[in-house]
Amino acid sequence: MNNKVLGLHHITAIANLAQRNFDFYTRVLGLRMVKKTVNFDDPGTYHFYYGDEKGNAGTILTFFPWEGIGKGRNGAGMATEIAYSIPKDSIDFWMDRFGQNNVLTGESVERFGEIYYPFLDPDGLNLSLVLSKGNDERTGWSTNEVSKDHATKGFHNSTLTLRELDPTAKVLTELLDYKHVGQEGNRFRFINENIDTANIIDILIDENSSRGINTAGTNHHIAFRVKNDEDQMELREKIMSSGLQVTPQIDRDYFHSLYFREPGGVLFEIATENPGFDVDEPLLELGSSLKLPKQYEGQRSAIEKVLPKLT
Ligand code: ZN
Repeated sequence: MNNKVLGLHHITAIANLAQRNFDFYTRVLGLRMVKKTVNFDDPGTYHFYYGDEKGNAGTILTFFPWEGIGKGRNGAGMATEIAYSIPKDSIDFWMDRFGQNNVLTGESVERFGEIYYPFLDPDGLNLSLVLSKGNDERTGWSTNEVSKDHATKGFHNSTLTLRELDPTAKVLTELLDYKHVGQEGNRFRFINENIDTANIIDILIDENSSRGINTAGTNHHIAFRVKNDEDQMELREKIMSSGLQVTPQIDRDYFHSLYFREPGGVLFEIATENPGFDVDEPLLELGSSLKLPKQYEGQRSAIEKVLPKLT
């Protein structure tokens, strides 16, 4: 059955101040803003997309910056950590850079033979840098301050915190083409071998964890990648046959989406590679102007008035 999942497509998180979020991800972390649009369900809020040059699947971290929203809390039923793959020999550069920019960092930790260097974004979102054991040949976006020799390459893995392993493991292995490949303590690793990068999900089991609070500094959902609509619709049938509730296909302008809540409580999305971020502005200009879905174009001036100005 051809319904290949190709690792991660994007991850969406919640932030507080738009400007602070924009400065951190574009300047400190050196990602490209590949799209500046609004939350399609709440057009008074931005939706920012950060990634590599083209916003390739597996590199895209997106945010809803809700100004004034309180700080959230990680807990069960959430994606609680995102790790970015970095080039060999770049960790000293990043540690210096984080020091100069007052980024909060934690103790490095070894997992499955790879060293993770944790840090927090300004809202307290858990991120890490990691040198992949595999061959990560992706080239990150470079800026005046972050050259391609240091630029992050995209996602390496994401961690889900759950109370119970089996129901979610079953979704990963039976529906999303992941294989269980290892366990260290209460951390279980799953790999999707249809693709070489952004293809790892860790499940961290914490039976006593309370539910997370999904506001600033926490992840809202994670999206898995499929090639096209045909693969997506086949996968939709398979998800429904497993007894899970799944939405119809929704047009997100830059990809097409389905959503379902996996049994552990994490919101999963299935997103297509098509049509991509250059569908409404040229590659060279991605992210440089506010793009609105057509249903809101008529309200552009009212929307621009309520969105915080970015400098
Ligand atoms: Zn999404």
